[in-house]
Amino acid sequence: MPAISPNKPYRIGRSRTGLGLFATKKIKKGSKIVRYFGPMLDSKNKKHDAIDNKYLFEITNRWTIDGSVRKNTARYINHACKPNAESDVSKKKLRVDIRAIKTIHPGEEINYDYGTDYFKEFLKPIGCKCVACEKKRKKKRAEERANKLRLKAKAEKKKLKKISKAKRKLEKAKSKKIAMTTPHAHARGSGKPTKTKSARTKSLRPRQSKSPALASQA
Ligand SMILES: [Zn+2]
Repeated sequence: MPAISPNKPYRIGRSRTGLGLFATKKIKKGSKIVRYFGPMLDSKNKKHDAIDNKYLFEITNRWTIDGSVRKNTARYINHACKPNAESDVSKKKLRVDIRAIKTIHPGEEINYDYGTDYFKEFLKPIGCKCVACEKKRKKKRAEERANKLRLKAKAEKKKLKKISKAKRKLEKAKSKKIAMTTPHAHARGSGKPTKTKSARTKSLRPRQSKSPALASQA
């Protein structure tokens, strides 16, 4: 890591995606934070054109800064979709400065938007890990969870409704059956159901009104 003079308003530190640049002092909105620098590559030079790394900062069609050098502290600044700084590019001076677009407070990570090309090539395939995108993902996940729960509750309710409907139907059928069987039971004179035909006929046979003993006495 490059040594940073203590009167600079930033330090290199651990960030969510590796290393990052953090404010150590209050950085006022609009103020220049650090220059993005490195060897200037000329696209007309074949050797230069062959150089490829993640820290190339294209200024014009012809000129690109190779920011991969260790001394370029600005290369530690991570991308953010809702950043607190921006890259201030001067095509005339072939110079890039990172400038605060919000007041940045001590402890806050310094970020700028790397631009659409970088985003498409390097960040989109792995998913942007910036705070704004992480928040968006979290919100989406929470919404998905809530939706799942809602659907589950709905299905549960439907199931319960179905069950109670079936129960009611069964209850109704039962009471109908009882209503149909009750008169027969009374006709036989006993509440107990008979098992065979003979048993049934027997029970339906007219009872003898008097016992033989009583009849002879009369
Ligand atoms: Zn993002």
